Amino acid sequence: PRKAKGTTKQVENGTEGEEKEDKAAQSLLNKMIHTSLVNTTNQVEVLQRDPNSPLYSVKTFEELRLKDELLRGVYDMGFNRPSKIQENALPMMLAEPPQNLIAQSQSGTGKTAAFALAMLSHVDPANKWTQCLCIAPTYELALQTGKVIEQMGKFYPEVKLAYAIRGNKLDRETKLQEQIVIGTPGTVLDWCSKLKIIDPKKISVFVLDEADVMIATQGHQDQSIRIQRMLPNECQMLLFSATFEDSVWKFAERVVPDPNIIKLKREEETLDTIKQYYVLCNDKDEKFTALCNIYGAITIAQAMIFCHTRRTAGWLSAELTKEGHVVALLSGEMTVEQRAAIIERFREGKEKVLVTTNVCSRGIDVEQVSVVINFDLPMDKDGNADNETYLHRIGRTGRFGKRGLAVNMIDSKQSMNILNQIEEHFNKKINKLDTDDLDEIE
Ligand code: ADP
Repeated sequence: PRKAKGTTKQVENGTEGEEKEDKAAQSLLNKMIHTSLVNTTNQVEVLQRDPNSPLYSVKTFEELRLKDELLRGVYDMGFNRPSKIQENALPMMLAEPPQNLIAQSQSGTGKTAAFALAMLSHVDPANKWTQCLCIAPTYELALQTGKVIEQMGKFYPEVKLAYAIRGNKLDRETKLQEQIVIGTPGTVLDWCSKLKIIDPKKISVFVLDEADVMIATQGHQDQSIRIQRMLPNECQMLLFSATFEDSVWKFAERVVPDPNIIKLKREEETLDTIKQYYVLCNDKDEKFTALCNIYGAITIAQAMIFCHTRRTAGWLSAELTKEGHVVALLSGEMTVEQRAAIIERFREGKEKVLVTTNVCSRGIDVEQVSVVINFDLPMDKDGNADNETYLHRIGRTGRFGKRGLAVNMIDSKQSMNILNQIEEHFNKKINKLDTDDLDEIE
C-alpha cells in the first residue's frame, strides 16, 4: 500500500516501533474527531503545591478577566463555559505570580484550548520577540494545536505565531518577532541553541503537550529536557498528557518543578448495563449469515463490528454492502485524515454500520453505538483473551446510563476458549443466542 505524505500507516501486530508511531497517529485522530467536548461526569482531582493557598475555580470565562480580544475569541469558538478541567486549570495558569502545572485528562476534555488561552493571555504584543514556547510530539500535532491558537487569537491580530517544524528553514540568528512559537522538540532545540533564532532566556511560558506521546518517541524526552534547561527559573512550565503511567510521571517531574497537579479520571467502563451473547457458527460464512439474521430481527440504531484482520474487515464490509447495508469501513492503510472523515460520517449517522479492526478503533468514542458485534474476539499476540480491549469495545455501548447489546461470534475451539476466559475474567456469564429465535434480545 501507498504511504501518503505526512501520515502514519498502521500495521496490525506491528513491531514496537510501529506501535509507537501509532500513538502519535491515534492522538492526532482523537484531536481531529473531537469537535466538541467529551462528556464526562467524573470530578477533577486537584493537588496544590501550596495546600494553604486558596483554590480558585471559575464557572464562567468572564471571571478570568481576559482581554476583550480573547474573550471574543473564546465565544467565537462556541464555548459558553469552561470545561471541567478548565474550571481549575485556567485560574491556576493565569494566576500571578505564575504557577507550574501538570494536567492529565483524556483527549477531548479541553486541555489544548486551556493552554492556548493561557499563552495568548501572557503575551505582551508590544514586545516583538518570542515569549511563549510550546512543544508537541509531531509535525501534524503541532499544526493542529497551532490552528487552535490561531483561531482563539483571531481578534487579537497583534499576537503572531510561528511554527518550528521541519521544512521551516530560517537563517542563523534571524531574530524571530513572533510572540508564540509552536514546534517539535528537534527544531525548537535548534532554534533555541544552534541557530539562535529564539532567545530561551526571554521565554515566560513553556508548554509541553502530549507528554505521553512525547516520551514514546526516541530522543524527544532528552530534547525536551535540554530545551527546558535553557529556560529561566521564573518561566512558567505547563505539561499536559492524556494518560499518566509511571514513565510519564517521572518525566513530568523532571520538566516541571514544584507543580500543581490536576487529574480527571476516565469515565469508568462497565459491563453492568450490557447484555452479552455469543453465537455458535462453523465458519466465516455462517458468522456472516448469523450477523444478517440479527440485523433483520432487531432495530439497530448504530453498530460497530470488529474484525481481527484488515482482510476480514474488507471482505465483511463488501458482503454487507452486497446485502444492501450502508457500511463504513475503517482500515489500517487509511491516512489519519481519511479515518477522521469516516468516523465523522458515522457519528453524523450517515452510515449505520462501522466495520473496523482493533488498531483502528482504539480510543475512539462513539457514544450513540448501541450494538457491538465481535465478528472476531479480541486476543493478544499469544492468542489469549484481550480483556481490556473487550471491555473497551463493549463498554462504550452502555455509557451514560444507556443499555447496550454485545454479540460475540464463535467459530472455533480457540474462540470458545477466549470467550470462556472473558466470562471468567469479568465474572459474568455470556449467554448463547439462537439466531433462528431472536425474540429475547429485542
Ligand atoms: P484536549 O486538548 O483535552 O484533547 P481540546 O482542547 O482539543 O481537548 O477540546 C476538545 C474539543 O472541545 C475541541 O473541539 C474544543 O474546541 C472543544 N472545547 C474546548 N473547550 C471547550 C469549552 N469550554 N466549551 C465548549 N467546547 C470546548
